[in-house]
Amino acid sequence: MSNLQIFLKIKLCVIIVTIIMTLNTIYAQERHVSNSRDRINSKGMALMDSQGIFVPFEFDRHALGNNDVLIEILYSGICHSDVHQALQDWTENETYPMVPGHEIAGRIVKVGKNVKNFKVGDHAGVGCMVNSCGQCNNCKVHQEQYCLKGCVFTYASKDIYHDNEITKGGYSNNIVVSEKFVIKIPKHAPLEKVAPLLCAGITTYSPIKAAKIKKNDKVAVAGFGGLGHIALQYLVAKGAKVTVFDITDNKQNEAIKMGAEKYVNVKNQKEVEKLDNSFRIIFSTIPAKFDPVMYLKMLQLDGELVLIGAPPIKDTPTLAVTPFVFTGRRKVWGTLIGGIKETQEMLNYSVKNKIYPRIEIIEPSQISDAYKKIKNGEAQFRYVIDMNKLK
Ligand SMILES: [Zn+2]
Ligand SMILES: [Zn+2]
Repeated sequence: MSNLQIFLKIKLCVIIVTIIMTLNTIYAQERHVSNSRDRINSKGMALMDSQGIFVPFEFDRHALGNNDVLIEILYSGICHSDVHQALQDWTENETYPMVPGHEIAGRIVKVGKNVKNFKVGDHAGVGCMVNSCGQCNNCKVHQEQYCLKGCVFTYASKDIYHDNEITKGGYSNNIVVSEKFVIKIPKHAPLEKVAPLLCAGITTYSPIKAAKIKKNDKVAVAGFGGLGHIALQYLVAKGAKVTVFDITDNKQNEAIKMGAEKYVNVKNQKEVEKLDNSFRIIFSTIPAKFDPVMYLKMLQLDGELVLIGAPPIKDTPTLAVTPFVFTGRRKVWGTLIGGIKETQEMLNYSVKNKIYPRIEIIEPSQISDAYKKIKNGEAQFRYVIDMNKLK
């Protein structure tokens, strides 16, 4: 091959590479322009740091994909997890601005062209997750919350399916979600009471179902707050005989009214000791430091302690192994929310049996105050934000 031929070949290669790079750049720019043009404008309430002070915040969300729905958010519950996460109780690496909220109820206002299960005007909800791989062993058995690639949580989570953007949650006026992660809400169900079920409901319904609770089972709920008062209602609906534990006398009347057989303030040591070897299963919804051994002693042979509440890392209860070995084959297991299929089942069951949280509706401007009350243990059950009042 002559020098001229080699020169021409190199020249041709350079021209081809240049053309490909130019086309790529034009395509990328167009894609970027069309993406940013189609992005959804949102406004909500955000935290700028871990001080717990909310401010009005405008942002945008990823464009409506073919399988997505756009939901106008009407109500958003405040979960104790929101407070833990906002205040960095679980990790010091949270990202801000943070728009929390994973108890979302609203109305569909737009659907992508491939959406099959929803139409404009339907009532719909979103819980703790907005995406997962759909392929792994856990996703295949409808346990998306345990996706082996990591599910995308509704807020403060890296959305690997949308350019790694950080998700923003329900303390806002709208949300775009794949229809696979959207829950149908019947039109006659009260949206403000349904919202907290999307986390607190499934978080308690799923382990109660997994534990195969039967009529007359002797069980207990430890912690009578946002999760505990819903757990009690499911257990009563299943015919179990339920004892409720908390650290105050103030909640006794409410617990008995909701069907508890007995209420015990665990600060009363003598009352607690009388209950050793009593329960088949105890559900702990406690979000703060507690003594697991005290509860384990209250279990019968082969009894189970189910951990549902997640205390801050600095207050995480620990279990001494040797005393545990001497107990009667008692078991401890943990559980995180539930899959989407089971969340829909929970919602249908709750609406049918009229199992709803006790709520107090607040305006977006009151969120910072509500956080303080939740942190100090002064909240009664569940706050729900009326997102229509967003200015
Ligand atoms: Zn939650
Ligand atoms: Zn998966």
